Amino acid sequence: MITRFAPSPTGPLHLGHAYSAILAHDMARAAGGQFLLRMEDTDLERCKPEYDDLIQTDLHWLGLAWDGPINRQSGKIADYNNRLEALEDKGLLYPCSCTRSDIRAALAAPQEGVAFNVYPGTCRGRPMASRLPGDALRLDLAAALRVLPADLGFVETGPAHSGPHRIDPKDAHARIGDVVLSRKGEDIVAYFLASAFDDADQGVTHVIRGEDLFDFTPVQVILQHLFGLPTPIYHHHRLIRDDQGKRLAKRDDARAIAKYRAEGATPADIRRMVGLPNS
Ligand code: GLU
Repeated sequence: MITRFAPSPTGPLHLGHAYSAILAHDMARAAGGQFLLRMEDTDLERCKPEYDDLIQTDLHWLGLAWDGPINRQSGKIADYNNRLEALEDKGLLYPCSCTRSDIRAALAAPQEGVAFNVYPGTCRGRPMASRLPGDALRLDLAAALRVLPADLGFVETGPAHSGPHRIDPKDAHARIGDVVLSRKGEDIVAYFLASAFDDADQGVTHVIRGEDLFDFTPVQVILQHLFGLPTPIYHHHRLIRDDQGKRLAKRDDARAIAKYRAEGATPADIRRMVGLPNS
């Protein structure tokens, strides 16, 4: 078993991240497997080296040692973009000039658990040769589904959706649509694409992550098949919520692990706070 913790260093780790990291770590250790650390730092504007450092400090303090070097995505954006050429050659991409802010938002890691804004297809059918500087590249989902096996799916072991999941093409059109994969020449690549490449490159067998990312799984499975990559087993865990029942976000510094640590909490306290037994 190979699991990973894949935070974006855009803020301090909070209780929700600690829960995710502990689960992924403990599952790998219980199976005699490996636990990897990946920094999903492709958003060069929002990711900061000080948060990268703080994440490592927090994980060490929690007693979560990772195997091997840290995989940082920021150095690999050109490589991810080059790998997209395989889809370009198959005629599965088209350039899109719809507004820049929409595209930036579509590429970023989810902040509030909103999956995809389904694109109405305004630029669909544009030839790649018409690509202008700053255009995004979108996946032509209908064309992709035509070349993929009909029985596309994945296995989920998390509490909310446990069992096998089929990806229904109609559903994919309604919920995913023609997603933006990158904006070439500007060093931007979609978080869910980089993450799918790296899960395969790092040999991740079990993706342990928050329930808010469940809706991204079908597009990652579609991309895995298009690039000939294996599909790991998915385990989406419950989210740690604040007193009002809202999902914790990075800006909730009040629940930052560093803050609890400074106030004298122990790693055992953190485990208790997220509802995990201490062994
Ligand atoms: N980098 C993502 C986040 O911070 C997690 C991606 C994943 O676990 O697949 O929300």
